[in-house]
Amino acid sequence: MVTGKMPRVSICKSYEFSAGHWLPNVPDGHPCKRQHGHNYKVEIIATGEMEQRGGWLVDFAELDNWVKPIIAQLDHQMLNDILPNPTAEWLAWWIHSRIPVKVSLVVRVWETPKCYAETKGQLPEWLREELGWTIDSSH
Ligand SMILES: [Zn+2]
Repeated sequence: MVTGKMPRVSICKSYEFSAGHWLPNVPDGHPCKRQHGHNYKVEIIATGEMEQRGGWLVDFAELDNWVKPIIAQLDHQMLNDILPNPTAEWLAWWIHSRIPVKVSLVVRVWETPKCYAETKGQLPEWLREELGWTIDSSH
């Protein structure tokens, strides 16, 4: 009989989508002010205590159940129709806030092969209310 705490572990699964955007708040003449597109890569990193019986943290298939519908909403869209200021940072929070929280998550959005934004923890409550981003924790 094994007793005691199981070790913590992190798992990561990556997803991809393509979308257009432009950044409204950069100065005139900034290249990001012009409409353009990216092939985004999204990494979801979940961290927690290993489940003793399963020998895993969370089924990779369950990660897909959480994340694939979110990615489908973004793929081949104009991100400005979804987010007013679609920086990689806001995109990471947008994705993060839609994943039901069962384990500690990091969301990393690669906008180019060299640049990413990463979120950890939770958006402050006031900001979530201001944005109207409610977390669906029903599943
Ligand atoms: Zn861009």
